[in-house]
Amino acid sequence: IAMYRAKGITGTAAVHFTPGADHTDLGLELRNAITDGQLYLLYQPIVALPDRRVLGAEALVRWQHPTHGTMPPQAFIPIAERTGLIVALSQWVLRAALSELSTWTDASLVLNINISQRDLREPDFADQVAAALDEYGIAPHRLTLEAPAVGSAGSGPSVAALRELGVRVALDDFGTGDSSLTMLAAVPVDELKLDSSFTQAGADQVPVAASVLNLANSLGLTAVAEGVETFDQASRLADLGYASAQGFYFAHPLPAAEFSELLTGTAVS
Ligand code: C2E
Ligand code: CA
Ligand code: CA
Ligand code: CA
Repeated sequence: IAMYRAKGITGTAAVHFTPGADHTDLGLELRNAITDGQLYLLYQPIVALPDRRVLGAEALVRWQHPTHGTMPPQAFIPIAERTGLIVALSQWVLRAALSELSTWTDASLVLNINISQRDLREPDFADQVAAALDEYGIAPHRLTLEAPAVGSAGSGPSVAALRELGVRVALDDFGTGDSSLTMLAAVPVDELKLDSSFTQAGADQVPVAASVLNLANSLGLTAVAEGVETFDQASRLADLGYASAQGFYFAHPLPAAEFSELLTGTAVS
């Protein structure tokens, strides 16, 4: 059964379950969920400001658990990170998302996926990404890898190797926690995702959103505002000069088929 389940996962990704690390039931179940097709991706549109044209999407993972129902990433990503299963999970996400991207006929559309700092410590991570891009015939610049922390414990070389491939790297949740100026100074990236706490904050936080955009512009990076929920937030960000954004105001994360309908203009919005 173990061999059967490992089928379909390429490379070394299937064997990274660290023995003794955290054998919770959920951890064991997650190991099988990855290979048994219980994970799926939603696609949240990333839109241009101010015209709301769809530029691409961020893929967000869900677990259709046989008894617990749909589980959000916060319920299992931390377990995946503790057990090392995140490496196999990220490889699954990468391939599932690139497979979907290969069906979008507009070759200008971009795709963002989330990775963990743990992935960046895998010596062959950049090679795996290159192989997946090759497998699905995707130009590297159409893929952005988002992580809230890219800068410590030897991940610098991995980020550099990814950028060398032409893949873009984004600092997620920028302005909070690990996703800081220290990180930005340590490891060059391509994109800053302004954390939703700044997007959603009142007028007193506008200077923060403005400063992050200035910072991005002066370093030649793309800035994307996350978590836009209202018309006011969207227009304030557009007025500041943000060229792209995501959030419930524009669209919730959508099943693949609905995102495709949105692209072909058959969706009611
Ligand atoms: P994130 O990367 O910061 O993703 C944005 C989260 O904000 C998503 O939650 C999204 O559904 C939610 N969101 C989008 N627009 C709005 C809005 O207008 N208002 C509010 N309140 N929320 C909004 P989700 O899908 O539950 O994902 C949560 C986190 O789980 C992600 O945060 C990311 O850190 C992690 N995650 C999701 N998918 C993956 C994955 O495939 N791999 C890894 N390693 N982590 C993932
Ligand atoms: Ca993200
Ligand atoms: Ca984020
Ligand atoms: Ca986050």
